[in-house]
Amino acid sequence: MRIEVVAVGTELLLGQIVDTNSAWLGGQLALAGVDCHYQQSVGDNLDRIVLAFRTALARSEGIIVCGGLGPTHDDITREAMAAITGVPLIRDEVIVERIRGFFSSRNREMPESNARQADRPEGSSPIDQALGTAPGLICPVGNKVVYALPGVPYELEEMFTRAVLPDLRRRQLAAGDGGIIVSRVLKTWGTSESGLGELLAPRIEALQGRGNPTIALLASGIEGIKVRITAKGADAEEAGALLAAEEAEVRSLVADILFGLDDETMETAVAARLLAGDLTLGLAESLTGGLVASRLVAVPGASTWFRGSLVTYATAVKQDLLGLPPGPVVSEAAALAMAAAARRLLGSDVGLALTGVAGPDDQDGEPPGTVLVGLDLPGRDPEAIRLTLPGDRDRVRQYAAISALDLLRRRLPTP
Ligand code: ATP
Ligand code: MG
Repeated sequence: MRIEVVAVGTELLLGQIVDTNSAWLGGQLALAGVDCHYQQSVGDNLDRIVLAFRTALARSEGIIVCGGLGPTHDDITREAMAAITGVPLIRDEVIVERIRGFFSSRNREMPESNARQADRPEGSSPIDQALGTAPGLICPVGNKVVYALPGVPYELEEMFTRAVLPDLRRRQLAAGDGGIIVSRVLKTWGTSESGLGELLAPRIEALQGRGNPTIALLASGIEGIKVRITAKGADAEEAGALLAAEEAEVRSLVADILFGLDDETMETAVAARLLAGDLTLGLAESLTGGLVASRLVAVPGASTWFRGSLVTYATAVKQDLLGLPPGPVVSEAAALAMAAAARRLLGSDVGLALTGVAGPDDQDGEPPGTVLVGLDLPGRDPEAIRLTLPGDRDRVRQYAAISALDLLRRRLPTP
């Protein structure tokens, strides 16, 4: 089954907002095993929206429209849907009352223009508005379908998951495109996309032409590269078994660059290992200015294993507070001294330190992107690891944070 995404809104064309909805929907459709061969963006103009819908329906089994469901005169997604189906718009009194209720729950009177949001093409069914005021719509067009979702991302995401996905699933089954699709994301850090491609070449070759299971590489910027495995089976058991077998194959090839699955992050991976070893962590951060600490405290329950971070930016503070000896602060010696000081001053089992040059200027004769990570773990010789990271100031700081967490992860006991 092929579904096309049509994002409606002149703001999108003018570059005033970035179309994150299409990107998000693309990801969700892929996970659901639904093909999405085209995405369109179109302004708030009836003729052009109608043309976009006709074009989409000529080459796909359905459309997901996002935006243009609001109460104002430039919100014309409903009118365009009625136009392509050749049916009138009817005002749904149940929806009118629901919108009125939404306003009165906030002690406000519903502006009459909001009643427009209760208009829907005859034969369509509304998707209840759980959050905002605009209901979504499911509108059959022959044996095809148009789903209309609000433009506001959190409303769109909620409605897609609650109403569109189950409807797509029913249609997949009815089309004999049935069975169960399961997928898993394996997250890696520490290799390039092409490097990972080479590691996985044996599997990519073995799966070529088979179509099931499939593996796909997804670069995710500073968060590394994901490997998504998708498997399809007649039932959950069959699909699960295929997925598990492929996951084992992929794991054996990627080994320790794999840090997590699905929703796991580098910080949850570090947390799991600290917990497994019953270890606490203390940080001394310079160029990352607390970024590493901020990532770690995002993990619920961090207080059981995270002691804190000393953000020591100025050289004098590194010397006064951490007791660094005089000398360059972008150096192996400084990283080692910082890690030891973090462990000592914060009373943690493990000390992790970052010092380096975020740029744009050199420091201590070192170019931007030079980062030293100090690691001080019980039962191991202290280490200082030199990294050369790419990008501007912001990317260097972000890369430094995740790289340091990964270096730590590799040295901690596995759960
Ligand atoms: P509303 O009831 O708020 O008018 P709507 O369904 O009419 O909702 P739009 O008016 O098109 O939707 O968009 C509302 C807001 O949602 C936009 O101002 C923008 O912030 C966000 N938005 C719309 N489309 C997108 C998109 N494709 N990607 C990301 N954000 C979007
Ligand atoms: Mg609007």
